[in-house]
Amino acid sequence: MRTNLSVEEALELVLAEARGELATEELPLAQALGRVLAEDLPSLVDHPDQDDTAIDGYACRQVDALSAGPESPVRLRVVGESPAGRPFPGEVGPGEAVAVFTGAPIPRGADAVVRVEDTRREGEYVLLFAPASPKDIRPKGDDLRRGEVYLRRGDLLTPGRLGLAAAMGHPRLRVFRRPRVGILSTGDEVVEPGEPLPYGGVYNSNAYSLLGLVWEAGGEPVLLGKVPDRPEALREVLAQAGPLDLLLTSGGVSMGAYDVVRQVLETEGQVVFWKVRQQPGGPLLMARLGDLPVLGLPGNPVSSMVTFFLYGRPFLFRLLGRTDPPYRSLRAKALTPFKGARGKRVYRRGVLSFEGGLVVRSTGNQSSGVLRSMAFGNALVVLPPDGDVGTEEEVEVIPLTFVL
Ligand code: AMP
Ligand code: MG
Repeated sequence: MRTNLSVEEALELVLAEARGELATEELPLAQALGRVLAEDLPSLVDHPDQDDTAIDGYACRQVDALSAGPESPVRLRVVGESPAGRPFPGEVGPGEAVAVFTGAPIPRGADAVVRVEDTRREGEYVLLFAPASPKDIRPKGDDLRRGEVYLRRGDLLTPGRLGLAAAMGHPRLRVFRRPRVGILSTGDEVVEPGEPLPYGGVYNSNAYSLLGLVWEAGGEPVLLGKVPDRPEALREVLAQAGPLDLLLTSGGVSMGAYDVVRQVLETEGQVVFWKVRQQPGGPLLMARLGDLPVLGLPGNPVSSMVTFFLYGRPFLFRLLGRTDPPYRSLRAKALTPFKGARGKRVYRRGVLSFEGGLVVRSTGNQSSGVLRSMAFGNALVVLPPDGDVGTEEEVEVIPLTFVL
């Protein structure tokens, strides 16, 4: 077992456990939001499928209206109209125009369009007060070319990409199944909300904050409930956990006599590492239980969220083969001081905003038991070992709300 790792060493070991390929399933477009594509998607069509107009106006021959201006209108005979979806069946001859509407194919014979605002209709005729031009014609395939791959295996299906898949003509998408992530809370003092809180008890918040983080990272949370700090109780639940791709435990990985998660994983499984030089989340443990990777998250509510975000989320991204990174670093100006710690990388919680530039303020009480810092913070503020940061200094931040 390795111990006292740097964040980078720990992350590398966690990612090395994300092996194997997830099964895939085919979903209708409407159910595929937030899933990860399992296949490359070529466009089934050209879009537009022929040259079309990007504006409402009149299509005609460019040479017929070259001299048109505010004082010298050109008069053309209107021979028909073409709304989107209803191509003009004939051909536009010299001195003729067809009223066209956004998305309509350019009629045969025409090679230019003038916008309706620059025209005046007079019965069977239209006066053009500006030259007709080809610039508002969208050439066939301007947006999408048939056969070209625009979405790839590993791409997260965002709203824009769902729309793109539809535009390419795909009614169903093959996606990876969500990895199943077991969430097991441990601790004699941990009680489910709704139950009376005994003296010294604490409500089980970790199960729910982790459930949210797992879902956001593309996983399917499987709540395994809560076990007391007794090795037999833990062994029993682990034996019945069902098929999982990752198991998260919270609590019981510190130095205390009642930290049974570590004891049980040491005897029943194989501990890959324990303890990372970071705060919060220093007691993080990674183990293997048979084939099942286990992240033993520390029980403090902030520690369990931060360690899942920094290690569990990248693990799921790797398993899903996602093309986007699990998180990104930015730089912001600190508007409050942030306190570092000796020999450890520190992740404080902050509120990141844009005030002429990116700025970040502390969420207040930074104790790892104060969950409000995660509930109202939107970024981790990263401090290097021994690195206090003063007001107006630049600091690294990792947004918690993910932006592509
Ligand atoms: P531990 O990691 O077991 O030493 O727990 C550290 C702190 O986190 C203790 O104050 C626990 O009461 C608290 N804690 C552990 N599990 C949970 C949980 N599921 N929800 C909220 N707090 C917890
Ligand atoms: Mg405990």
